[in-house]
Amino acid sequence: MATHRRRERYFHGGVPGLRTRSEILSADSLGLRYNYDRRTLVPGSVPYDPSLVYFTTDLSVAIGFAARYVNHVTGATGGGWVYEVTPSRQPHPDPDFPFHPDVYRMAPRATVRKIVKRNVILTRVEQVQMEKHHLVWAGRDDRMYDEEGYLLPSDEMAARGVTGRMLRAYGRWLPVEMVDAAGIYSALPGRDVGDVLIEDMYARIPALAERSLHPLLLTSDLAPICSSCGYQPSDAMSAIAHQIGEDLCLAIGRGCPPETLPAVLRQLARHGKAARPDEWEWLRLYKTSHDSSSAQPMA
Ligand SMILES: [Zn+2]
Repeated sequence: MATHRRRERYFHGGVPGLRTRSEILSADSLGLRYNYDRRTLVPGSVPYDPSLVYFTTDLSVAIGFAARYVNHVTGATGGGWVYEVTPSRQPHPDPDFPFHPDVYRMAPRATVRKIVKRNVILTRVEQVQMEKHHLVWAGRDDRMYDEEGYLLPSDEMAARGVTGRMLRAYGRWLPVEMVDAAGIYSALPGRDVGDVLIEDMYARIPALAERSLHPLLLTSDLAPICSSCGYQPSDAMSAIAHQIGEDLCLAIGRGCPPETLPAVLRQLARHGKAARPDEWEWLRLYKTSHDSSSAQPMA
C-alpha cells in the first residue's frame, strides 16, 4: 500500500523560539559539543557528527528530542520546541540508528517550515512511551520494550541471567538507565538514579502498586498468614517478601548484598503501604504487637 510520491514530512525537536524559515543550526555552527545526551537514548551508540542537522519522519521522536533539549547556558533540560523542517537536500539515514533508516535522517542544513509544538516538558517515562517503537538495544535490531511497555533484556543482560520476567517485576516503561547490565534496579538504597524520580519509579512496580496475589493477614494471636495460600511466615521479613512476591524479590535480590536485604524489604513495604495502605495494615499491627511485647524485636 505504498503511497507513491507522497511528500515525506520531517520533524526536528530542539532549541526553542525559532521562526518559520529560520535555519536549524548544527551543534558545530553553534559552537557546541552536544545538544542532546543521545547516550541516554541509545547506550553505546556511535558519536554523532556535530556538523550536521538531525531530524526525523516520526513526530513522536521529535517530541522526545525536544523534551531532552539542554539549554547550554543554564544547563536546564526540557522545554524544547518541535518544528516541521525542510532539509537543504535529500536527507541521509542517521548511522546512529542503523535499524531505522526511514525514521532518523540527517542533512547539512534544514529550515523551519512550521512550528508544531512549543515548550515540550516530559518525564523520562513519558519520553520512553513516546519513542517506544524506535528504541532498540545498541547495535542490534532488538527492541527495548515489548508491546505492553515492559523492558526486554539486552544480549548482555541475557548473558548474565537476566530474564524478561525479572524485568517485568520492575513495572512498565522502565527507563533503561534504571537497570544495569546485570538487571539490577537502580532505585535501591545507595544507588545513583540521576534525575529520575524515585517515587515515580516505585509507583510503577506492580507488586507494590497493584493488588497482591498473596496478601497477608494476622491470626488472632497476631501471627502473619497468607490469605491466599495459607503460608505462615516465621518473621516479618519473610512475610513482606511473600506479599511482595517471588518475581520482585528475585529481581531485587540480585542487587542487594544479603545483609542489606532487610533494609530494602522495609523500604519496599513502605512504598507498598503508601500505594495500598489496607494491604499493609497487618504489618503495622504486627510491628506494634512485637514492639510492645519486645519479645522479638523486628530488624
Ligand atoms: Zn501466599
